[in-house]
Amino acid sequence: MSKHKLAIVGVGKIAIDQHIPSIEETGLFRLAALVSQRGVEHDGLPSFRTQADMLSAMPDVTAVAICTPPDVRHGLVREALRAGRHVLMEKPPTASLMELEDLRAEAERAGRTLFATWHSQFNAAVDAARERLAGARIRSVRVDWKEDVRKWHPGQEWIWQAGGFGVFDPGINAVSILTRVLPFPPFVASADLTFPANRDTPIAASVVFRRPPDVPGARFTADLDWRQTGGEIWTITIEVDGGPTLTLSRGGTCLAVDGTTVVDEADREYRRIYRRFHALVEAGESDVDAAPLRVVADAFLVGRRLVTDAFDW
Ligand code: NAP
Repeated sequence: MSKHKLAIVGVGKIAIDQHIPSIEETGLFRLAALVSQRGVEHDGLPSFRTQADMLSAMPDVTAVAICTPPDVRHGLVREALRAGRHVLMEKPPTASLMELEDLRAEAERAGRTLFATWHSQFNAAVDAARERLAGARIRSVRVDWKEDVRKWHPGQEWIWQAGGFGVFDPGINAVSILTRVLPFPPFVASADLTFPANRDTPIAASVVFRRPPDVPGARFTADLDWRQTGGEIWTITIEVDGGPTLTLSRGGTCLAVDGTTVVDEADREYRRIYRRFHALVEAGESDVDAAPLRVVADAFLVGRRLVTDAFDW
């Protein structure tokens, strides 16, 4: 089995918390370089200020993991694919749907792997929920995705800038679980998007979903909120008609059926992501699932803008 050399581009919170330890633990890629605007270093690895510098200095680096904010990813991914590298993208993959489609075509043209990751989908509990819901008639769905922005995104100004997604930066994780486990596509019917008076992205959102016309059942709501204090709530509850209630909690790492926990497995998402990336590279395939981004884009398209108090750190 070949061991690809990989570079991380953007050495922020998620690169340090998850990517570096997962690459090291799974041992399928060798971390060979970093690209960091600020010059972050790790373990004596070469660290470059731009991806272009790394690509030309290290032709033996065959794969990159782009861990920057989404709005700069399109240019970076294109550059890496055109230089013949395989690419893993953090979520949300891009700031727009057209950019994502462009990258999918670019990967095809380059004959390289492009992997748009949705880390919350890489949980055993999510797989188990998907299996139980296949073909099920669903009575109700309820999403609560609430966390303290000061705790989870300290000082990250990019999340408040246009293209930074605001509360949909974590909220798209809930959406990625919905698009994976529901046996029908969730259509956005309406959305209330609450923007702080001094910011360009929402601090809270209430999104109402409807089912396709041929799927019976009521509309359902996802409530996303960054003003949560006293502990985060990342929970999806799904009631099956005449059957059990499934509760996916703690961000999709835990599944309870009628209150009894059947899967509880924290912190494996990124190990699985790197295994999947390696398998895709070895098979010469790509995995670019646009569904969660499409749902969030639709929420911005049909959403109503509400304004609340200014936000400061
Ligand atoms: P972060 O701490 O702000 O790190 C992002 C890093 O990207 C920065 O530290 C910077 O690193 C680099 N960068 C390159 N261009 C940049 C630009 N124009 N503006 C700001 N930074 C730029 O953010 P993060 O939390 O790691 O999130 C990065 C991505 O991972 C996001 O898409 C996010 O949704 C996703 N994610 C985050 C988490 C989490 O828990 N934080 C979880 C899952 C996924 P250098 O100075 O080293 O270049």
